[in-house]
Amino acid sequence: MEMDDHKRRRNMILYVIIAMAIYLVLSTLLFPNLGQHVQISQVSYTQLLKDLEDKKVDTVQYTTDDASVVYTRKGDDEGIAYETTAMPTDAQLTDRINDAGATLDVVVPSNDSNMLLYFLIYFSPILIFLLFGWWLNRKMKKSMGDDGPSMNFGGGFGGMGGGLGKSGARIVASKDVGVTFKDVAGQEEAKESLKEVVDFLENPKRYEDIGARLPRGALLVGPPGTGKTLLAKAVAGEAGVPFFSISGSEFVEMFVGRGAAKVRDLFKQANEKAPCIVFIDEIDAVGKRRDAGLSTNDEREQTLNQLLTEMDGFDNHKGIVVLAATNRPDSLDPALLRPGRFDRRIPVELPDLAGRKAILELHAKDVKTQPPIDLTAIARATPGASGADLSNIINEGALRAVRMGRARATQEDFEESVEVVIAGQQRKSTILSDHEKQVVSYHEIGHAIVAASMKEGAPVTKITIVPRTSGALGYTMQVEEDEKFLTTKQEVLDKLAVYCGGRAAEELIFGEMTTGAANDIEQATKLARNMITRFGMSEEFGMMALGTVQNAYLNQDTSLTCAPGTAERVDDAVLKVIEQAHARALQVLKENKFKLHELARYLYKKETITGEEFMTLLKRENPLMPPKPTA
Ligand code: ADP
Ligand code: MG
Ligand code: ZN
Repeated sequence: MEMDDHKRRRNMILYVIIAMAIYLVLSTLLFPNLGQHVQISQVSYTQLLKDLEDKKVDTVQYTTDDASVVYTRKGDDEGIAYETTAMPTDAQLTDRINDAGATLDVVVPSNDSNMLLYFLIYFSPILIFLLFGWWLNRKMKKSMGDDGPSMNFGGGFGGMGGGLGKSGARIVASKDVGVTFKDVAGQEEAKESLKEVVDFLENPKRYEDIGARLPRGALLVGPPGTGKTLLAKAVAGEAGVPFFSISGSEFVEMFVGRGAAKVRDLFKQANEKAPCIVFIDEIDAVGKRRDAGLSTNDEREQTLNQLLTEMDGFDNHKGIVVLAATNRPDSLDPALLRPGRFDRRIPVELPDLAGRKAILELHAKDVKTQPPIDLTAIARATPGASGADLSNIINEGALRAVRMGRARATQEDFEESVEVVIAGQQRKSTILSDHEKQVVSYHEIGHAIVAASMKEGAPVTKITIVPRTSGALGYTMQVEEDEKFLTTKQEVLDKLAVYCGGRAAEELIFGEMTTGAANDIEQATKLARNMITRFGMSEEFGMMALGTVQNAYLNQDTSLTCAPGTAERVDDAVLKVIEQAHARALQVLKENKFKLHELARYLYKKETITGEEFMTLLKRENPLMPPKPTA
């Protein structure tokens, strides 16, 4: 049974009227006094005695606790009563009443009955509403064959029945999506693929006429924060259709069977509102490969099976497109990916230089800025940043401007916020000792000098020893002039040497090792390992792949695929490469020891220096350094 909005509203009004009628009837029946209007006038005790003598009294009601007497008289209109206080000593009152032929009613108020009465009076409306709602809901469900979707009487009676929001799918009217392709920058290829979907949703008839079978589902895959959710919304916004969205994790609940019911419900709702978009975010939470492993998850499998069934079952001619997003496409069940389901895969990759610039410009439009602003420079300094990172950088810049008490954000604000996003906020509370500060200065200048000595490679743009909340005590920033898509073996080796430069400087000057190089070591080892296992850049193993990348869109972890004996040799080779890089860095620093001292002292004093300052000082009376462009 399908229930449109109009019908639902009528039902709801009917329900309120019936409930109110029942309440009125019950309240007059149960508590007749409540509604009745009794006019009570105060009279004297003498008046009562007189009325009794005249045999005018009809009924007498005596309340024990306050000794009040309420009585009515024969011949009076209904609703008129008299009240007085009985004389406690008047033992003959009962006799007098008897003699007068009146009926006597004695009321002994007890606290308990009072409480119950109050309870009933106060809660009866709610009780009646609840009972009635429950009954109505049950009736509806029965008439729908018991699997019907929720009968929503509007959110106002939340929790009533059990019918409310069973699927949890948020229905957002297309006007409310408020996002179109204009709000997505840089993802031109993804937008291109999705344009067809938009067209299909706008004119399903045209496709039907020619007999084309359109994709039922498209899978948006890419790293976190690249705009997958945004793109899905934009498709709905462009086509002007409703957008049903649910997150994969919402399916996975405690009770078996609930997830499957949700899927069923979601598609039922979508069917009513077609053409529309059904969007399943983070689909890997429910669509994980089913396997015969020990840890089977019944609930998840049921949900997945239901999803597969629904995707086969819905009537595509109405114009329903299911979009899903994930950053772990390789973990998805193959059944989800076969033709007729999510057969289209739309990569949403990290933006390139032009894309980053476009995203920065889009978000900067909402911020008041103080020219000159060079967003290209920001884009250049942020390789690997996602759309979400970039939008965050713009926002952090604006926040910084406010903190500084300015009305407009400047280029400096944005540049500082790049560092905030990369390395965390400056941490003023970390007070380094004098010696530590010296060590950090030499460490960073060590990186910078080794970097500057390379023929190729990104120029140094900034060196700082201001501690960051990320735990970094300082860092050296290098920014590529142009975007690089390929890296040569020589460049990888150079990079390794730069990583080793920090520790090498510490050893050379202080003859000791500190924990400050931990991150450098980690990065260097990862790079060296990739060089050998994935890039085929070693003589020993040549072009043999020794590992595979898992979660390409997340952390790019490599797992070895070779025999244990080979793995040992891989470790040896990794060590050798790193050792060579370390030796090379040490050599460069030995040759430039004088400059190392000079620059480290300068950095120690100034705490933050630019790439230009660094290069000028480095090249002054220094024939060893090759001429290099400064950033
Ligand atoms: P995902 O779903 O891929 O993890 P989102 O779509 O949730 O990423 O993106 C998060 C936020 O990042 C968006 O709300 C938007 O502000 C910003 N963003 C990401 N990519 C883009 C883009 N290509 N253009 C504009 N803004 C973007
Ligand atoms: Mg998302
Ligand atoms: Zn370092």
